[in-house]
Amino acid sequence: MISAPRGTRDILPAESWQWAFIVRTASQVMDSFGFREIHLPVFEHTELFARGVGETTDIVEKEMYTFNDRGGRSITLRPEATAGVMRCAIENNLCVQGASAKLWNWGPMFRHERPQKGRYRQFYQIDAECLGIAGPMADVEIISLSLELFRRLGLKNLEVVINSVGCEKCRPVYRQKLIDYFSAHKESLCETCLDRLERNPLRILDCKKEECGKIADGAPDIFDSLCPECREHFAQVRAGLERLGFPYRLSKRLVRGLDYYTKTAYEILSGNLGAQNAVAGGGRYDNLASAIGGGKIPGVGFACGLDRVALVMEEQGCSFGEAPAVQVYCAALDEASRGDVQVLTHELRKAGISAECDTAGRSFKVQMRNAGNCRFACIIGESERENGSVAVKDMKEGSQESVAVSEAVRYIQDRV
Ligand code: AMP
Repeated sequence: MISAPRGTRDILPAESWQWAFIVRTASQVMDSFGFREIHLPVFEHTELFARGVGETTDIVEKEMYTFNDRGGRSITLRPEATAGVMRCAIENNLCVQGASAKLWNWGPMFRHERPQKGRYRQFYQIDAECLGIAGPMADVEIISLSLELFRRLGLKNLEVVINSVGCEKCRPVYRQKLIDYFSAHKESLCETCLDRLERNPLRILDCKKEECGKIADGAPDIFDSLCPECREHFAQVRAGLERLGFPYRLSKRLVRGLDYYTKTAYEILSGNLGAQNAVAGGGRYDNLASAIGGGKIPGVGFACGLDRVALVMEEQGCSFGEAPAVQVYCAALDEASRGDVQVLTHELRKAGISAECDTAGRSFKVQMRNAGNCRFACIIGESERENGSVAVKDMKEGSQESVAVSEAVRYIQDRV
């Protein structure tokens, strides 16, 4: 027996209709904010992520699914969406001469992480990116977009956490301050953080280990190191959030795992998820385009974990809308009626009514059992065939009426 690879799972009908609801809602919210959908390849040249996400990040160092294709090129299953969206914008000239682009997409991402609740090796993200705009209003739009999505999905107990991670001017100064500080606490840092000390000290700030966390709490505050431009940008983002009435918490320890972030970084946390408590994360990435050879295109965006949102919605008892149900079941009382039953089913479907009939030669009793979930059953037997009628049974009321075949579609249309 061959099973699905560790960290992957099948999304079966019992869950897939809930996913469809989330994606449908996302699509509506994106439309209402003027974001347009794109579809991107799920694999890209490895270099895109190595240069875009950053060589020293956990994702690139440890988590990518990378292989050589038959032409000997190094290919990687996308671990995140932003680098691909930026590649797409550059390649298709979407942001030339100061043009901006508001784009969204959704689909699977791949990271070789240790699977646990809410963490998979193939997981799904809904992603929105606003490219070509450097000002803080775009950051506020993105945070507002993610919160509107969660509001429409009915999620409760969410917390917005924001930080500024500075820019290429002020981050090196802060980086050095961190190296100095953490070097003095070397003996209490975990192996991973020791390894990060010289290469990526900012990542020590979001280590989940208790000991490292305690030390990180005492680390220098990035707010004291921000250059005037980053400081002003962050103040504007905060003011914008306050104008829209969004509460948030500042956290100097929020740095996120990807190198391309500049200025704003944010996460939306849910109290309902254990360790994997982020339902969405994002921020600004003004250096990503140049890192992948595309000149200067500022950007800000977010990605939300579909698997996790579905999990939280389930736990919080949120509504996923109506579960899909077929409206009419057409049943044959005898063998000779099966053809007529399929024709009626076809006519109902053409009229926009969802309908099913048995195609497996099952008994009338079994057919009627299957009709139990439908609003109506349309029954055809010998006498119906003889007088050109259908017995329409209202499955809620239990009542039954004889209707002319020619009238059956209209009769049901008036009642569903
Ligand atoms: P990131 O790209 O790491 O900022 O992640 C953005 C969002 O994607 C997170 O807030 C999670 O909701 C989701 N996510 C990230 N990694 C995983 C994973 N391995 N399994 C499930 N969801 C994930």
